[in-house]
Amino acid sequence: RKPVLEIRDLSVDYGYDQNAVHALQGVDLTLHAGEVLGLAGESGCGKSTLAYAATRLLPPPGVITGGSVTFTSARDGHGGDLLRMNDAELRAQRWRDTAIVFQGAMNSLNPVYTVGRQLVDGILAHKPRTRDAREQARARALELLEMVGIPKDRLGSYPHQLSGGMRQRVMIAMALALEPEIVIMDEPTTALDVVMQRQIVEQIMQLKDELGFSVIFITHDVSLLLELADRIAIMYAGRIVEDASSEEVYKMPRHPYTAGLLHSFPPLRGPKRDLAGIPGSPPDLVNLPTGCKFHPRCPYAFDECKLTDPALGPTRFGAAEPERQVACLLNDERVAPGPIPLELGV
Ligand code: SF4
Ligand code: MG
Repeated sequence: RKPVLEIRDLSVDYGYDQNAVHALQGVDLTLHAGEVLGLAGESGCGKSTLAYAATRLLPPPGVITGGSVTFTSARDGHGGDLLRMNDAELRAQRWRDTAIVFQGAMNSLNPVYTVGRQLVDGILAHKPRTRDAREQARARALELLEMVGIPKDRLGSYPHQLSGGMRQRVMIAMALALEPEIVIMDEPTTALDVVMQRQIVEQIMQLKDELGFSVIFITHDVSLLLELADRIAIMYAGRIVEDASSEEVYKMPRHPYTAGLLHSFPPLRGPKRDLAGIPGSPPDLVNLPTGCKFHPRCPYAFDECKLTDPALGPTRFGAAEPERQVACLLNDERVAPGPIPLELGV
């Protein structure tokens, strides 16, 4: 499968110089055409920062300090490095190639306009002003509402007249308005109840199959990702610590943090696991631990973990798991104290 988005060595600071907080450090991530890539980690690990930086929507004091984010259209091959595009190029790119559904987006609808008007205005903002543009936008708005499962007569409703789930569907409709190739969703269902969450996820997957876009799905809930993602990247302290297929993560997490996350949420399928969670709390980015950033919380930590910061790389089971990358010294035969704890307590 062709890569549509290649994030390489992406780093982001909040603030400058000695006061800078390293929110993202050397992140590598590839999204392939038609793929659902899940991005998980506790709050504050950099998931949203990654989404904002990769789409050039990072608000100050966030500063992209290095890297590249290369979009390559699977449809016609156009694209380029988003971090090096000028404003006009970005405007042409945004929503057409890459759309984003923000965390809590459903609350960003304007309360004084109907959802129909907001959809129509959103579409018109990106269309040449021809005589029948408004008529066409209206037709497209109806089509979009239908696509996300909202009855046509809701076009005239105000946001407060819709349920949270419906408002979130409107935001998804808006993101899909210009038929983007990539849709980034930052916690799209977190604010909703479980039933609504399931319905929306199913809707997204169905739309993805119909329309053929690729998805980066950001959530703190790994169990949800096991259901819907093809591949899962786990973030900790602004880095990717494991990147593997959903199947591989489900069968056997290789990073102790991944194992901990899996223990923090009830599984949606398969046998029930004990819910243990992860001891301690996410690290203070201003004052990161030495060596492996996870060592103060890691049940498998050994002396070397306080000294060496593991890089993301192939596992020592590389041949059997060519798709998997992990940043943990247990995976490095030269450093690890003994046989890898295969089960990682899962
Ligand atoms: Fe745990 Fe050490 Fe692996 Fe870090 S490098 S995750 S502390 S075992
Ligand atoms: Mg977030």
